[in-house]
Amino acid sequence: MSTFQAPKGTYDLIPPDSARFLAVREAIAAPLKRSGYGYIETPGFENVELFARGVGESTDIVTKEMYAFETKGGDRLALRPEGTASVLRAALEANLHKAGNLPVKLWYSGSYYRYERPQKGRYRHFSQVGAEAIGAEDPALDAELIVLANDAYRSLGLRNFRILLNSLGDKECRPVYRAALQDFLRGLDLDEDTLRRAEINPLRVLDDKREAVQKQLAGAPLLRDYLCDACKAYHEEVRDLLTAQGVAFEDDGRLVRGLDYYTRTTFEFVHDGLGSQSAVGGGGRYDGLSEMIGGPALPSVGWALGVDRTVLALEAEGVTLELPARTSVFAVPLGEEARRVLFAKVMELRRAGIAADFGFGAKGLKGAMKNANRSGARFTLVAGERDLAEGVAQLKDMESGEQVPVGLDGVVDAVRERLA
Ligand code: AMP
Repeated sequence: MSTFQAPKGTYDLIPPDSARFLAVREAIAAPLKRSGYGYIETPGFENVELFARGVGESTDIVTKEMYAFETKGGDRLALRPEGTASVLRAALEANLHKAGNLPVKLWYSGSYYRYERPQKGRYRHFSQVGAEAIGAEDPALDAELIVLANDAYRSLGLRNFRILLNSLGDKECRPVYRAALQDFLRGLDLDEDTLRRAEINPLRVLDDKREAVQKQLAGAPLLRDYLCDACKAYHEEVRDLLTAQGVAFEDDGRLVRGLDYYTRTTFEFVHDGLGSQSAVGGGGRYDGLSEMIGGPALPSVGWALGVDRTVLALEAEGVTLELPARTSVFAVPLGEEARRVLFAKVMELRRAGIAADFGFGAKGLKGAMKNANRSGARFTLVAGERDLAEGVAQLKDMESGEQVPVGLDGVVDAVRERLA
């Protein structure tokens, strides 16, 4: 193993590509920030029980993919595999649900960890931006979140994504469906692992990607035929609100999500340019999760969008983001006096909001100009002894090649004028 190798299933974000990740995070957060969502940050690890909630409908994410470990002090911790449980835990701990208006609306951005089989778009360390609206049962809230994710993707220029929508029912109708589905699955020719899954979390079997399994599932009972009246009406309202907003979605009666706590509205954003790892984001309602982790009844809804996959989706669509210039002016000093003067000019440009950098390290003119070129700066600012004696520096436009002497006091204005 080489010393300089990131662990399997992980990769580093490095310039210039890292700028796109930042831009994607910011674009996803922007609609949330103007919609009443407050920023929350929770630890990268939690007590393992927060995610592994005893028996219940366990999932692969918790049983197979979690990085769980014991600390030197004997605490059982897990690197967070997802954001929702942590955010809800933090909100309960801080009593946010008692402090003010419900829903408590929160957004977050961070790293998540799953011990998965790595492939393109599927990593062991990945990045999500998420939003949770805690403590309100209102179809408009579900619709709001879907619209906000839709707006975020559209603002990035993403077009070839689809929204899949389903309702998973509630604690009244879901168990009836679950039993019917289990009956159906028990009659199929399935391997042992899948049969076991059918006993623990039968809805998950619907998600099986293998063709042999999918074929047998053709006649499986659908949840939509089992929804109780309240769930049906709720779902209709969500659909109507989305339609009124001009947000196109596809009803997908087979859509179940990888986590056990979803109820009613569930949705996924899929991108058709991504191959098998096509989900760029997803979420839904989790009315029972608060009680599952020992809190009061707090019906809630949320989503998480994958930053890594959103970047891949942008690449697949050939969308180039308009990123702000990393460096607009690169200063090249010739001689000691010029170093002091231009260093001060660079600071002045930066304070004026202009991205500027400096030829650090003792280099000749040639080497320094190479650095200036590599920086991608639109302008170089060069000064030697003779320039200083005349009270000027040479401002060179790297695109046109044009070079003009500019009075030292007028550098900021001259650059600003030319950038506008
Ligand atoms: P989930 O928390 O499973 O609902 O995932 C939400 C989003 O996070 C997915 O739609 C993906 O975009 C992203 N995601 C989940 N798992 C991974 C992973 N292993 N690698 C990269 N992105 C992931």
